[in-house]
Amino acid sequence: MPIDATRPYDESNIFARILRGEIPCSKVYEDEYVLAFNDIAPQAPIHILVIPKGAYVSWDDFSARASAEEIAGFVRAVGRIAREAGLVEPGYRLLANVGANGGQEVPHLHVHIFGGHPLGPMLVR
Ligand code: 5GP
Repeated sequence: MPIDATRPYDESNIFARILRGEIPCSKVYEDEYVLAFNDIAPQAPIHILVIPKGAYVSWDDFSARASAEEIAGFVRAVGRIAREAGLVEPGYRLLANVGANGGQEVPHLHVHIFGGHPLGPMLVR
C-alpha cells in the first residue's frame, strides 16, 4: 500500500526496525551515514536498497531537512556501493519512489540500485 510521504516519521516502519537490528537483512554495506542491503523481493539480478541512518520519510523529507554532510554521505555511498558491485561499466539504474503516485511502500527513504542485466524502458505502464 503506497504511503503518504507528508506524514511524520513512523519509528515502527520496517527499515527503522532493520536499522535497529530488530529484523535481519542481507547487508551489502554500512558506514556512519547509510545501511545498504539486498531487497527481499529482487526485481533485477542485483537489487540493493540504500537507506540513510537518519529518520527521513522520503526523498522529499531528506532533501529538505538533512544536513549537507548527511546528503554528501548518502550520495557518495550510493555511488560507492554501485561501483563496488561492478555496475558502472555495464550500467545500472537508481530509483527513489516518493509518496502515493511514486508507489512508495516503506516510509523511510530508500534508493533502489538495479543492475545485472539490461533494464529495459524506464517506466512500465
Ligand atoms: P518502495 O515501493 O517503498 O520503493 O520499495 C520498498 C522495497 O522494500 C520493495 O522493493 C520491497 O521488496 C522491499 N522490502 C520490503 N520489506 C523488506 C524487508 O523486510 N527486507 C528487505 N530486505 N526488503 C524489504
